[in-house]
This record gives sequence, structure tokens and C-alpha cells, in this order.
Amino acid sequence: MELRKIPMLSSEMIKNMEDMNFFVYSQIFDDLLIIAQKETNCFVWKTSDGLVVFDAIWPDKAVYDAIINAIQSVGWNPDNINKLVLTHGHCDHTGCGRWFVEKHGAKTYLSRIDDIFWKEHPTKPNLPDTWKDFDINCYIQDGDTITCRNKDIYVYGTPGHTPGCLSYIFPVTENGTKHMAALFGGATPPLGTADGVKQFLTSLEYFRQKAKEKHVDVGLCNHTVFDNGIERISYSAKRLAYMPNIYIIGNDGFEKYCDMFQALAEAKLLK
Ligand SMILES: [Zn+2]
Repeated sequence: MELRKIPMLSSEMIKNMEDMNFFVYSQIFDDLLIIAQKETNCFVWKTSDGLVVFDAIWPDKAVYDAIINAIQSVGWNPDNINKLVLTHGHCDHTGCGRWFVEKHGAKTYLSRIDDIFWKEHPTKPNLPDTWKDFDINCYIQDGDTITCRNKDIYVYGTPGHTPGCLSYIFPVTENGTKHMAALFGGATPPLGTADGVKQFLTSLEYFRQKAKEKHVDVGLCNHTVFDNGIERISYSAKRLAYMPNIYIIGNDGFEKYCDMFQALAEAKLLK
């Protein structure tokens, strides 16, 4: 893969994860909304059982307000939020979850391994405001299905980025036509040991296989740096009826999307 086509990860990026000065959002499918700050994003998925929030960005009330604002702006009702499904136990994804628990009684989902990891290894040990601040109601693991009345979320164990990292596949519709979306939970290989990077690569290969079986044609990410997220959200927000939905990339496109994560991890092994 050409190097210029691989995202550049920088310390600036890590800093931007804490910047809550602006948010963007767009309804990218009939039933899927994306909300982002500078570097991290989350999703809200509409089902007949209520609204499911995938990840919760950063632990800041401004994030919660931005998500609620986005939900209201597309004409959905925030009172219908009833599930918070987390990919992993890092504070830039567990984020503002406690407000969903306190204000909406949302049921929370994460792997048991990452619930412990989140508590014992806070992402920001020097920032108590970002430490674990709500309970997980449902421990989920590889092979599980979260049923939301008319639709299911398929759960896959993809350790590497964190020890209990999870990834998800679920259906979305574009003008009523069904597509399968895949959210790869932990975008970067772990810092530190080569073993961690190898585990990440094994998980990526596993998820790639599962995505093929489920006919995934939509690739979703929870960090904007990996998919030009901010630009894509801006495009989607102003997309006219005849313009393509750029989140639909086909099965081949999803393979290339996985190639990017693979290239990032392999580059780390070579260092
Ligand atoms: Zn993370």
C-alpha cells in the first residue's frame, strides 16, 4: 500500500481527542447517525426497540449535549435511547456514557475483560475525571448477538488494541435498501510489545473473514483520522439526492479498508 495513502498518526491527534470545541454530525443512513469531535466519533442506530449508541467519545457533558442535539436535529427522540454499546475500555470511547445511564437508563454493553481493564488501567491516569464512572450491565463476548427487536448486532472479539476489544457488524438501510456495516473496534495496534501487534493482526484477519461471511459493504470507524471522517461527515450532511453514499464501499472496499489497518500494524512490527 502506498505510504501517502496511510493515515499519519501524530501526538497532535492524541491531543485533539480532548478538544471539545466543535462537533459535526450527519445522518449517513436511514437508521444511522454519526457524531464526531476532531478525532473521535460515535454512532446512533435507530431500531424498533429504541436508539442504540455505539461508543460515547470523551467524558465531557459537551459530548453528551452534542449527541442529544444531533439526535434531535434529525428528528429522532433522545428519550428512546436505551442501549450504549462500547467497543473497548478507553476513555475516548467510554466517554460520556454515564449521562446515558443517569438520564436515559441506558443498558450498557462491554466485554468483561475490558470492564476490568478500564478500571485498572485508566487511559489518562493523571486525569481522574476520565476514570471509570459507570457500570456495565451486560458483559458480551465473541459470538454473541444483541437483539434489538427488528435488527441484530453481531459481536466479535478482536483483542489487540485493548485485551477485550470488541467489533460489531449490524444492518443499516439506504432508502430502504439493506446494507451490512462493520465497526472495527480498536483502530490502532497497541503500543509496546510485538506480541500485542501480532494479536491485533490475528483479530483483524478474523474480523475480515467474518465481514466477508456477513457480506459487509459499509466500513465504519470510531476515529476520524482513518476515514477522513470530518470531511466525509461534512459531505454527507450536504449530500444531494443524486450523490453517492460514500460509506457504501462494497466488499472489495472493505477489504482495502482492512488492508490499511494491516499496513499500519505491519509498519509497527518493522520498527
Ligand atoms: Zn482505544
